Amino acid sequence: MKYISTRGTAPVLDFRATMLTGLARDGGLYLPEHVPPMTQAEIAALAGQSYEDLAYAVMRPFIGAAFDDDTLRKLIARAYQGFDHPARAPMKQLAPNHFLLELFHGPTLAFKDFAMQLIGQFFQEALARSGQRVTIVGATSGDTGSAAIEAFRGLKNVDVFILFPHGRVSEVQRRQMTTPDDANVHALAIDGDFDTCQALVKDMFNDFAFRDAVALAGVNSINWARVLAQVVYYFSAGVSLGAPHRPVSFTVPTGNFGDIFAGYIARAMGLPIEKLVVATNHNDILHRALSSGGYVTDGVRPSISPSMDIQVSSNFERALFDAYGRDGAAVAQLMDELKSTGGFQISQGALEYLREAFASGCASEDQTRATIARIAADTGEVLCPHSAVGVHVAESHLSATPMITLATAHPAKFPDAVQAATGQRPPLPARMADLFDRPERVTRLGNDLTALQAHIRGKIPA
Ligand SMILES: *Cc1c(COP(=O)(O)O)cnc(C)c1O
Repeated sequence: MKYISTRGTAPVLDFRATMLTGLARDGGLYLPEHVPPMTQAEIAALAGQSYEDLAYAVMRPFIGAAFDDDTLRKLIARAYQGFDHPARAPMKQLAPNHFLLELFHGPTLAFKDFAMQLIGQFFQEALARSGQRVTIVGATSGDTGSAAIEAFRGLKNVDVFILFPHGRVSEVQRRQMTTPDDANVHALAIDGDFDTCQALVKDMFNDFAFRDAVALAGVNSINWARVLAQVVYYFSAGVSLGAPHRPVSFTVPTGNFGDIFAGYIARAMGLPIEKLVVATNHNDILHRALSSGGYVTDGVRPSISPSMDIQVSSNFERALFDAYGRDGAAVAQLMDELKSTGGFQISQGALEYLREAFASGCASEDQTRATIARIAADTGEVLCPHSAVGVHVAESHLSATPMITLATAHPAKFPDAVQAATGQRPPLPARMADLFDRPERVTRLGNDLTALQAHIRGKIPA
């Protein structure tokens, strides 16, 4: 299996190199040259399998020679053993034809554990064999950072540096990043907002001398291996509701478009998905783009679903690549226009292509709070604000086809918003109950690339 860049000029890579690289050197994102199809019979055979066996069947064709069959099975088993539910991604029913896929039973209580725990295992295995050492850097608005730290803590051959905006993450999120005491974990509180952190990370990747000297690796949601890991639960949910014999639809609370793009890959592989519904909060650039064709940035407004407070939705580039007939030059031109003018117009043909697979909607802050309260009262299910955005949008897209809404985080990760909506403070799961007693370890840095690079060089083995 070969991987190509959405901007057409970066080297073609195999799975291993694609995973270790993250961002392509032409600024694009990697995608498989061909999406390997699954037959109806192969999809039907997934019914009743364990999450781990199903993950193996779905991911095997993408991984090529990077891992042999037994190794891949072993890495998948290790990745999901720390989840506290035997189904890994259990489903609940909310209404006659509306289901909730709970993706928050991993170690840091958000769906990002599904991908991050797996790529932690993948990195460790790949690096142990080659004796290479890498430096992982990532920017986070909260959930990515804690998931990455939990996945890479204590691993050999890896140092992990996570930049988060000082004072702008929830206390639970901050403590999940600052309390692991492993020597290879480095939590960095940056003076600025999430965009400041993300810009610093991008600048480090674009400084090729630094990038090569410290063997920089990226694990944010543009890393193809993360998208691949997320394809699996679309299959597990779909077959449990009767696919491939019956179609299903999904609604996905969306920020960087990584999670929903995994659904698009599942659909391309042959899972009968009628619609993939993009659900956004009041930062609704994706909803506006799919409605009007204009992809125009207009500043981030904070919300009670902060993991979806984004200005530029990185993984949307992957969908655009297909919508423009896999023309890397056309995508590069759109991205240049975005950079210089703050937006671009999607062509009519590309828009029609996108609308065949995707629908969209958004939820205001009031609608989000009202949904948390109503669903708790009606069903007993306590939603986090991100999941509530999904449920609100899904409710206006219900049809005869079963709708599955993705619940992306545990309510205890956002206790203030949930308490404001329901009057009840959601308790942390027992295994995390001492989070507020553990000592914190964090370095505060300014918005200064040179100082940051010096700090990183000083922390990693020469
Ligand atoms: C990251 C995150 C999202 C958005 O996922 P994308 O892949 O960026 O679209 C939604 N909800 C929660 C809780 C998250 O942590």
